[in-house]
Amino acid sequence: MIRERIGLLLAAVVLTWSLPLGAQDTRLPPVFDGAAALRHVERLVTIGPRPAGSPGAVRARTYIVDELRRAGVSVRLDSFDAATPHGRLPMANVIATIPGRRKDVILIGGHYDTKWFRDIAFVGANDGGSSAALLIELARRLHARPREYTYWVVWFDGEEARESWTATDSLYGSRRMAGELGKSRQLPSAVIVADMIGDRNLGIQREAGSTSWMNDVIWASAGRLGYSEHFLPDSLVVEDDHAPFLRQGIPGALLIDFDFPPWHTAADTLDKVSAQSLEIVGKVLLDALPGIEEGLSRSRGARP
Ligand SMILES: [Zn+2]
Repeated sequence: MIRERIGLLLAAVVLTWSLPLGAQDTRLPPVFDGAAALRHVERLVTIGPRPAGSPGAVRARTYIVDELRRAGVSVRLDSFDAATPHGRLPMANVIATIPGRRKDVILIGGHYDTKWFRDIAFVGANDGGSSAALLIELARRLHARPREYTYWVVWFDGEEARESWTATDSLYGSRRMAGELGKSRQLPSAVIVADMIGDRNLGIQREAGSTSWMNDVIWASAGRLGYSEHFLPDSLVVEDDHAPFLRQGIPGALLIDFDFPPWHTAADTLDKVSAQSLEIVGKVLLDALPGIEEGLSRSRGARP
C-alpha cells in the first residue's frame, strides 16, 4: 500500500518535471468536491422556490455571491429589467471573473432560477439548484489554479419561461448577456453551459446544437476518467443558455441530463441529486478545459 503510494508520488513528480511550464497543472487529475457542491444544492433548496424576480431569487444570488467572496473570487451583478408575460421583472446575472495568463475568455455558465409555478412549491434541486451549485465549486477550483484563458463563471437568471417556452419567454439572462457583449464586441471565445447535471442516475447525451469538437473534447475527458457510462454516445437537441451565444457565432457546448422524470414537478427535490453526479461533471469539465483551450488557440491561429 505504502509502496504503491510512493510509486504514484514519484510518477507525479516525474510527470510534473517532464512537462513544460503551463502544461504542468493541466495534467494533474482534476479535483472537484462533489459533497461541497451537494451542500450548496441543499442550502439553495432550503430557500424554497427561486423564480426570477422573486425574494427567493434575491436570496439565492446573495448566497452565491457570499460563497464566492468568502473564497476570494471577484464577482459582480448585472441587473436588468426583463419584459415577461407577467410584466417587467427585475433580474440579475451573477458574473465571477477568474483572470488567466491571457485575456481571452471562456464562459462557463448555468442558470440559478427555478421555474415559476402557480400551483406547486417547486424547489428545483436538480433544475436550477445543481447548475448553481456546480458553478460555485468550479469557480473555487479555477480560482485556486488559474489557467491559460480567463474564465467568466456566470449564473444566469431567468432561464425558465414564465408561461410556455418561446423565443421571447425564455433564456432572459443569457439573451441579455450575449446581446450586450455582442454590441460591445466583447463576446467570449467559447461557452460551456451545465444544466440539470445532479441527477442520481446521471446520463448525459451529446447536445446536437453544440459545437462538435467541443463535445468531442468533453466526451474524451469522460472516457479518460472512466465515466463513459454517464456520458452517452447518443444525442438530443436542447435549447438552453448556450443558444444565444451560438447564434452570435461563438462555439459552445451544453451538458444536460434531460432524462429526468421529476423534471418540472414538485418531486425535483434534494433526494434526486447526488454528490457523485455533481463530482463527475465537475471533474470532466475541469479535465476538458486544457483541450478546449488548445482547440480555441488552434482555430484562432487558423483564421485568415
Ligand atoms: Zn427547467
